[in-house]
Amino acid sequence: MEKLSIRAKITLWFAVALVLVVGLTYGIVFAAGRQVLQKSIRDNLVETVSRNVVEVEYHARIEDEDLQDTPNHFVRYGGGFLEVDDAFLDEVNQVYTALYQASGGLLYGENPIAWATAGLEFADGQLQTVSVDGVKYYVYDAKPVQEGMEDLWLRGVTSEVQGQVQLTNISRLSLVVLPLLVLAAVVGGYLIARRMLRPIQQLSESAAQIHRGGDLKLRIEVGKGDDEVHRLARSFNQMFERLDHAFQTEQQFTSDASHELRTPMSVIMAQCELSLEEPQSAAEYVEALEVIQRQGRKMTKLINDMLDFTRLEMHAERYPLEATDLSGLTESICADMALIRDQDIALTWEVEPGIAVRGNRDLLSRMLTNLISNAYRYGRPGGHIRVSLGRTGGGIELAVADDGIGIAPEEQEKIFRRFYQSDSSRSGAGTGLGLSMVQEIARFHGGEIRLESAPGQGSTFTFFLPEKNLPR
Ligand code: ADP
Repeated sequence: MEKLSIRAKITLWFAVALVLVVGLTYGIVFAAGRQVLQKSIRDNLVETVSRNVVEVEYHARIEDEDLQDTPNHFVRYGGGFLEVDDAFLDEVNQVYTALYQASGGLLYGENPIAWATAGLEFADGQLQTVSVDGVKYYVYDAKPVQEGMEDLWLRGVTSEVQGQVQLTNISRLSLVVLPLLVLAAVVGGYLIARRMLRPIQQLSESAAQIHRGGDLKLRIEVGKGDDEVHRLARSFNQMFERLDHAFQTEQQFTSDASHELRTPMSVIMAQCELSLEEPQSAAEYVEALEVIQRQGRKMTKLINDMLDFTRLEMHAERYPLEATDLSGLTESICADMALIRDQDIALTWEVEPGIAVRGNRDLLSRMLTNLISNAYRYGRPGGHIRVSLGRTGGGIELAVADDGIGIAPEEQEKIFRRFYQSDSSRSGAGTGLGLSMVQEIARFHGGEIRLESAPGQGSTFTFFLPEKNLPR
């Protein structure tokens, strides 16, 4: 059963249910039909006997003219005659009626089971049954009330088998037609199930194809419709879309990373070759070693940054979120970084006390450090960096503002991309990963980074954390 397809299972259950329902309906209809038929047989017997009992008349004597032009029958009885109407037939609607003397002698008519009813007492207006060779017969007696006929009985007999033929025919027909109908319904059900489950079939094929290393750009043909299966297929398509995007980003990252590592590596190799080609002075060797050290540091930073990135994306559990005093953290980082005084830039801070967030201390420090480092790096000699932390209408804002070179509007979106550096002359030891890490950390905390900048005037990077992501 487990190995059957959903389509086959649905069809099987459907078929079993249908056979049960049809079988039950057939049984009920057949039983009810039998009841109705038996009742109509009994009613017919009673009606025929009651009608025939008035068709018999007694005449003390009969004139000749009575005998003429009449189809009626005359039977000698007692001192006179019994006139039996023509309408009194031996057998009407398979009901046999016969005229009996109370002593049991048959006077007129026919009784096909006379021997079996011989011992049966006459009972006026009562329905009696006799069984002959396993067949049930209904017997109904009526007593004529007319004068001169006090000693007579009219007995009607009919078998329950009559009418059974039609019922048998109907049931035979049903036994052929109903299975055919069930078959047609099952085939129809199977086709409908197949049609409805086609997207699932495609879904499993696409998933299998992707699993076999196929194309991530594969999509399931969903077609029109908004039922569960269509929605499932659409969700899978969205998932494939995201997988494809993630895969492409990953590939891009790998290729960018190799590219970024290749540059310092080539510088190191070139420097080594140059130094080894011919003997150099001690000062030249020192210079060569300094170049190699600088490039080595750059590579180390790059590798560390990339590792941090991967850790944040792949092992978020290493950065648990807990209640963190952001005010205290900001103040201590600012106090430390104010000592840099690179290019004679002054760092000042304005921190609203007591601001706590649900966050990761290491990541938040990393974010603020990156922003302040950038503000120094792209700042104006003798300029100013202002760090501020405070509550706003919808949450909290941590801003780092400088009065440095600023960022052109067309660059403002690009600088958050991995490895993107718009001013390589200044970025120096930078890797182009700083801001993308900042953005990643902001998102990790449920916040975002907003940027306001004008070339030549300075930039303000603001970390905004909405109220809903703050601890209550
Ligand atoms: P990098 O290591 O090059 O600093 P980032 O990702 O930190 O990498 O920054 C990307 C680019 O954004 C930088 O190359 C620089 O051009 C620009 N940038 C970042 N911060 C500032 C700032 N405060 N002022 C002007 N430009 C900036």
